[in-house]
Amino acid sequence: MQKRALIVGLGIAGMATAIGLRRAGWAPVIIERAPERRTGGYFIGLLPDGRQAADDLGIVNYLHTRTPDSGTVWSLKRDGTRKPGLGFLDQPGRPSAVLRGDIEAALWQGITEPAPGESDIEVRYATTPVEITEGYGRVEVRLSEATTSTRYDESFDLVIGADGLRSSVRQMVFGPHERFMTNWNAMICAFQLPEQVPGFARQDSIISARSKRAAWVFALADRAPTALLTYCTKDIDAEFTDEPIERLRTVYQGMDDPAVRYVLDSLPQAADYLFDSVHQVRMPRWSQGRVMLLGDAAWCLNLYSGMGASASLKGGAELGRALRENPDDIIAAMGVWEARLRPFITRHQRTTRLKQQMLVPTNRCFAAIRSLVVDLAARARRRSVAREAIQLST
Ligand SMILES: Cc1cc2nc3c(=O)[nH]c(=O)nc-3n(C[C@H](O)[C@H](O)[C@H](O)COP(=O)(O)OP(=O)(O)OC[C@H]3O[C@@H](n4cnc5c(N)ncnc54)[C@H](O)[C@@H]3O)c2cc1C
Repeated sequence: MQKRALIVGLGIAGMATAIGLRRAGWAPVIIERAPERRTGGYFIGLLPDGRQAADDLGIVNYLHTRTPDSGTVWSLKRDGTRKPGLGFLDQPGRPSAVLRGDIEAALWQGITEPAPGESDIEVRYATTPVEITEGYGRVEVRLSEATTSTRYDESFDLVIGADGLRSSVRQMVFGPHERFMTNWNAMICAFQLPEQVPGFARQDSIISARSKRAAWVFALADRAPTALLTYCTKDIDAEFTDEPIERLRTVYQGMDDPAVRYVLDSLPQAADYLFDSVHQVRMPRWSQGRVMLLGDAAWCLNLYSGMGASASLKGGAELGRALRENPDDIIAAMGVWEARLRPFITRHQRTTRLKQQMLVPTNRCFAAIRSLVVDLAARARRRSVAREAIQLST
């Protein structure tokens, strides 16, 4: 009989897992808290590991990328002038620029267009788990459906929490958030700009990074850029006591560059924005019996790593592979999956502290080092581009 898995969460991790499981011959059911599938979202740099996983899942050809083919990355100086800098897409591996919604749309196409012989994946919206109990060889789940206010029980061979940073599956089965969510004393606000910042070319990216606060404008090839404001704080709870725009205006006081002002002034008009604290999830094990976690729920690398989406795709693809290789032993498959994935996640969790300094330096010393490194790297890059141009012309 076909094995059934409950996947909680219709984000990148949940959909990648569903495709991976279906490829292993399973029948996944996805439940999503929201009443419908979300779209849009913020800028994401997709790295080679993520592209490879998208290929393994068979969705890479559905992925719409928006990497700018022209434009300059500008670093804003204190005196209001600008100089060429280094952007997110200049890092090794040459990430592709996408929106979170582009990855989700590609995964959705993979879900709704099964390969010949593959079955449909059931998706239930407005549905959450309220109780999870391990039985003998099964997991019993009490589900709650919000639109009809009904509760019902169902049993599965495997339950996968792909329900993000503040995972309810993790809380119900593994323990309280505080045990696993490390606090980075930092905040983010990400949203779509209505248009390019005045005075900049359509595909220019803009960075204003000072000690403890930074503003980034990420250019996209075929639509207006997205903005990211990120800053350090001593008390994340206090950050949520005021309206985000009021808090941000206070934090960014003194950064009077017109580009930063434009970003701040655009926030109240944004149809949607994300304002949240930054955490990393650290767990000694990602599974307990037949309940497991995947994606931000299990290891949230956080935005500074630039690897969260890639890791979620890889996690789903790798789980499918482990289940294909161990069709009769789910526990062994989960062991193989975790053993393969953990070194990759641990490496990225460790390097994220360093990467944070590139996005938002946490003190004046790091700000000075960052500025020096960016200047040197930008200069080296300009020289290598010039050399390539000379070689091409001879
Ligand atoms: C500003 C920002 C920039 C980023 N930049 C990058 C980048 O450049 N590169 C990169 O690789 N990654 C980046 N990331 C990280 C990346 O977006 C995430 O790691 C990735 O989207 C995680 O996906 P997920 O599916 O695990 O979680 P989520 O996206 O949080 O999805 C969880 C889903 O579960 C649903 N859900 C929650 N609770 C329940 C419940 N109780 N019942 C049912 N459903 C539930 C939610 O509604 C949601 O649909 C960035 C993140 C942020 C915030």
